[in-house]
Amino acid sequence: MRIVIVGAGLGGLSAACHLAGNGHDVTILEKATVPGGRAGLLDLDGYAFDTGPTVMTMTDLLDDTFAAAGADRADHVELTRLDPAYRALFADGSELHVKAGREAMTQEIREKIGPVDAANFGRFADWLQELYELEQPNFIDADLSNPFDMLKKPAALVKLLQLGGLRKLHNVVGDYFADDRLHRIFSFQAMYAGLSPFEALAIYGVITYMDSVAGVYGVQGGMHSVPRGLADAAEKAGAQIRYGEVVEKVTKSPSGRVDGVLLAGGERLTADAVVMNADVPVAYRQLLDATPPLVTRVGRYSPSCAVWLVGVEGELPEGTTHHNIHFGGQWNEAFQALLKDGRRMPDPSILVTAPTVTDPGLAPDGKHILYVLEPVPNLDGKVDWHAERNRIRDQLAAKVGELGYPTDIEVEHLTDPLDWQQQGMERGTPFALAHRFFQTGPFRPHLEDRRHEGVVFVGSGTIPGVGIPMVLISGKLAAARVEAMGRKGGLR
Ligand SMILES: Cc1cc2nc3c(=O)[nH]c(=O)nc-3n(C[C@H](O)[C@H](O)[C@H](O)COP(=O)(O)OP(=O)(O)OC[C@H]3O[C@@H](n4cnc5c(N)ncnc54)[C@H](O)[C@@H]3O)c2cc1C
Repeated sequence: MRIVIVGAGLGGLSAACHLAGNGHDVTILEKATVPGGRAGLLDLDGYAFDTGPTVMTMTDLLDDTFAAAGADRADHVELTRLDPAYRALFADGSELHVKAGREAMTQEIREKIGPVDAANFGRFADWLQELYELEQPNFIDADLSNPFDMLKKPAALVKLLQLGGLRKLHNVVGDYFADDRLHRIFSFQAMYAGLSPFEALAIYGVITYMDSVAGVYGVQGGMHSVPRGLADAAEKAGAQIRYGEVVEKVTKSPSGRVDGVLLAGGERLTADAVVMNADVPVAYRQLLDATPPLVTRVGRYSPSCAVWLVGVEGELPEGTTHHNIHFGGQWNEAFQALLKDGRRMPDPSILVTAPTVTDPGLAPDGKHILYVLEPVPNLDGKVDWHAERNRIRDQLAAKVGELGYPTDIEVEHLTDPLDWQQQGMERGTPFALAHRFFQTGPFRPHLEDRRHEGVVFVGSGTIPGVGIPMVLISGKLAAARVEAMGRKGGLR
């Protein structure tokens, strides 16, 4: 089949690896000059900044994606398990490391907190693992396009209930641990799904599993090596990637079936199928001239983030690790502000990633990169980002300085929700629709839409959802839909 993929984000690249690996004629059209989309790269005066994801988990899914293109991940991307995965620093001055390996983590909890919570960590990790092993094949790596698909798995649903999957994540974590700091480090991951741990169902404990148990990996050359490697593998498998190409419209034949795309320069490419990696609601409005699905219009979007990238001269404070989470003093209040009131957290928790700790080559000799992320409301919130932009930059700079990081700034770059919107992300959030129950699985925008036969969506706006592991799976599911379309239409 001849397939055009709109976008070389991780979703589009994953679909390309599967489809090109299966012998199809694949062309990727990407408006940027590099692959990766949100997993982008910003080169500034010798500093190679990752602009998006920094936490790499579930590397077996990455291995599988390379393998689909007939490639070996190790030939393209060098991974090293980070230990600790995170260094968590609390407002009372205490510090906890999320260590790699159960024994090491148990020991960390025993030393820093006490024997009772330490003894419970093993049980907690077992629960997370059981949850993951149940959800992965049944609900995550599964093409659920209809709520009744879930009912076809009664045993898995019963098991999910038995595991407490429909309780609140905060409550389940609270049953295992008495110490409030452990509640935070084992439940903040709900934020990756756009939810507070108080509202998130315990099914999202799988995200805690992915980083705290299965492990976080550092990528040699920075996270951008991941999309670059996938793009290389897809090209070696026969895909053609054209950068700097803006797709303006998806075209249809007189019968109403999608038959290709129109590029900004006026060129028209025909295709048996179009795989759409642009953000789902934006793609509907701009490329399909159609009303986006109801859930994308009335649903709740994840909070956004402000990312301040800085190249600095000077020594990092002692103990700095790759990922440093500086928790604010408040917790419930922080989620209230961010998710309910649509305001910035009064006492923000921030992530400071210092990738030069593990890969000094990302910055000029002896210098460092600081990637500072504060979760902030998306554009449905009440923040005027024209006014807030300078304020948040100055506040982050002051905070990072107070925390002891070097402040001799050589280069810097700030991305706020208006920038995310300008890059094509609905409501100015790079984290798509929040993973509320009725915005997940069969309730999320589907891979296909009968009104636009011939288009298959891919990426974080469709199933299974947000984050690198999910988006890689989405590429596989989208490719399977294209294959099915080909079989139905008698195409090869
Ligand atoms: C700041 C930040 C931090 C994050 N942290 C993490 C993390 O630590 N761990 C994690 O797992 N995930 C993280 N994520 C989420 C993760 O990066 C995303 O879920 C994932 O990269 C989304 O991939 P995608 O393929 O869905 O979309 P995208 O990456 O947005 O890809 C879409 C592509 O389509 C292209 N495109 C769109 N429209 C057109 C058009 N008309 N013509 C041509 N090309 C077009 C875009 O340029 C883009 O390249 C983070 C994201 C951000 C932004």
